[in-house]
Amino acid sequence: MKNIVLFGPPGAGKGTQATLLKEKYQLVHISTGDVFRYNIKNETDLGLLAKKYMDEGDLVPDEVTINMLKAEVNKNADANGFIFDGFPRTESQAKALDIFLTEKGEQINGMVALEVSEDLLVARLLERGKTSGRTDDTDENKIRNRFNEYNTKTAILKDYYQAHGNYFGVNGVGSIDDITNRLAEVFDTL
Ligand code: ADP
Repeated sequence: MKNIVLFGPPGAGKGTQATLLKEKYQLVHISTGDVFRYNIKNETDLGLLAKKYMDEGDLVPDEVTINMLKAEVNKNADANGFIFDGFPRTESQAKALDIFLTEKGEQINGMVALEVSEDLLVARLLERGKTSGRTDDTDENKIRNRFNEYNTKTAILKDYYQAHGNYFGVNGVGSIDDITNRLAEVFDTL
């Protein structure tokens, strides 16, 4: 199996690229943000719980997120592999993912990160907010809070994967096609 963590700050383009790459490599794409939004739309218990965190730009608690992720993986028992998008976002999520995959005789082949500067990202997110209908994209304070969460809890995961020789940074600025090609060059080696 090819199991890849597609990584990067909010608005880096993970969702766009994952959609293209899952076709190319026949992988299952799991976006924790999309799963939460689906649950919010359908007013499930999980959705009601996640909503209050997401609306503020805070991370949803680890235990809730980890259980949800495991359930999504288990729904796809015959997958060739996974693109994890938006997960892990904390060190405890990364550790839980490693244990979970090890139990299945699997592992993360690599963390592939889209590298984009924060100023460019805030502008991109505000632009996306005009059409995405995402309440967390319309308010600059909430966007800044998402970066704060990213910088304090998520960015350290670079070190976590780098320590295992598993971190691959890719320039996330350019056309969608150019970036897909850059990512594919790394995916091919994993
Ligand atoms: P983006 O990367 O554009 O900020 P996502 O769609 O990946 O957006 O996530 C939106 C929100 O969903 C996050 O701000 C957070 O509240 C919640 N979320 C998504 N993934 C996780 C996760 N792994 N752990 C905790 N919260 C998460």
